[in-house]
Amino acid sequence: MIIPQSCDVVVIGGGPAGSMSATFLSQKGYHVVLLEKLKHPRPHIGENLIPHFWKYTDLAQVSEQIANEGFVQKAGGTVMWQGVIRQMAFKDFGYSRPAFHVERDRFDHILLENSKTQGAEVFEQVAVLNVDLRGETEQQIVTYRNLNDKSIGNISCRFIVDASGQNAVIGKQLGLRVVDQGFRYMSLWGYFNNAKYVAEDGQVYPHQHLFQLRPNTFMTSIPETGDAGWSWHIPLRENTSVGLILPLEFMKTAKSESESWESYYLRKCYEIPILNQLLENAEFCPGSFAKIQDYSYRSTQLAGSGFFLIGDAGSFIDPIFSIGMIMGMYGAYISTWAIDRSLKKPNSVKENQVLFSSQLQGRLETSRSLALPNYQLGEVVSQKAKITAQFEPSLEQELMNVVAQITTRSDNFLSLMNKSTDKKINSDKLKVLEKISF
Ligand SMILES: Cc1cc2nc3c(=O)[nH]c(=O)nc-3n(C[C@H](O)[C@H](O)[C@H](O)COP(=O)(O)OP(=O)(O)OC[C@H]3O[C@@H](n4cnc5c(N)ncnc54)[C@H](O)[C@@H]3O)c2cc1C
Repeated sequence: MIIPQSCDVVVIGGGPAGSMSATFLSQKGYHVVLLEKLKHPRPHIGENLIPHFWKYTDLAQVSEQIANEGFVQKAGGTVMWQGVIRQMAFKDFGYSRPAFHVERDRFDHILLENSKTQGAEVFEQVAVLNVDLRGETEQQIVTYRNLNDKSIGNISCRFIVDASGQNAVIGKQLGLRVVDQGFRYMSLWGYFNNAKYVAEDGQVYPHQHLFQLRPNTFMTSIPETGDAGWSWHIPLRENTSVGLILPLEFMKTAKSESESWESYYLRKCYEIPILNQLLENAEFCPGSFAKIQDYSYRSTQLAGSGFFLIGDAGSFIDPIFSIGMIMGMYGAYISTWAIDRSLKKPNSVKENQVLFSSQLQGRLETSRSLALPNYQLGEVVSQKAKITAQFEPSLEQELMNVVAQITTRSDNFLSLMNKSTDKKINSDKLKVLEKISF
């Protein structure tokens, strides 16, 4: 297939944000070209998928493929934070369809293939090098390298959706990316075979029981980092994803230079209470160790002359509430609205950029208020978070309240809502367990 020289919209990146964007735009009848640097299926971190995704996959007409894939269905979360064990279940908040633990190579591949079915032209192993933004009413130029034959080419288009993830092609080119000083962390992760898991009844079972009794995602704070560092334990079909989130400040002295990152990670996994018991007799999968740091950032601008930044290419808050993929899908949905409206009513372009940016900013700020220790109330940005949160249905507000309290890392959502409205949000849906039984 030959890469076209022009189209309506170029989407950069074929992760969840890019694939959904290409799907939604194609469904509206636009000529969409998606360029993806790698060949899918490709590995990716971020396997915990909360049930909010169904509304987007229904629109994308891909829910059936996802439901039939056989991903591990999870019931909710069990968290041990500073010795207190708390648990929640999605079914208590009106979710009748499951949440999943997904192998990202497989999940992302399903979404990418679906974007082709919905009409997008997808080219893999084609890396975008840079963009030439020429104004709202002009054609933008995207320059790429085709890694298959090493050729360089250009595509002209009316709009560019940047969904290139942490690579943030446009954000970096225009200098829009700012590291979030509230979240200076690193993450270390890897995979284990035969790890035990915490099920929805709060008891521990062998990995083979996953499809008989649903797991919860298990998280625990890392004692010596105070409220800041934590670990995740996400059972997948073949193995279990285990990751550590560590404050950069803490890491300045936590590891000696002579110790490798991988051996530090493994040592730490076996020091963390409960996690070490879940990993007893488990085998680490050689070659599976990975590391990332300073993954939380925002963009000073989310849309501009001919471009929209969605998913991680625009902003990533923090993995604690597992909303990265959902935010990518939401960005795809509202940028499609903005592009569609701009192409139909060219004099509304600026207004659509502002609406897109303020909607996305509101959601991002709500997530930030949930995740950040010492979130400052009263700032202009916190007003955005408050307004966004108030428009959520009351069960969804209750869910946010519960996830904010499942750790003691931040209780800011609660104060944000309770201080700003007469309605006090309380919930009996957060259970405290005496212990996790092995
Ligand atoms: C430690 C950690 C744990 C996380 N855990 C979770 C979790 O449990 N649940 C959750 O929902 N989220 C989680 N996240 C966040 C989640 O991984 C991301 O938010 C999500 O992958 C964003 O999707 P995306 O489509 O924006 O980007 P990506 O999924 O990163 O996709 C971007 C795509 O763009 C391609 N690309 C990059 N540069 C170019 C280029 N120049 N040209 C063409 N293509 C390009 C890449 O190859 C990639 O395929 C976690 C993040 C971290 C750091």
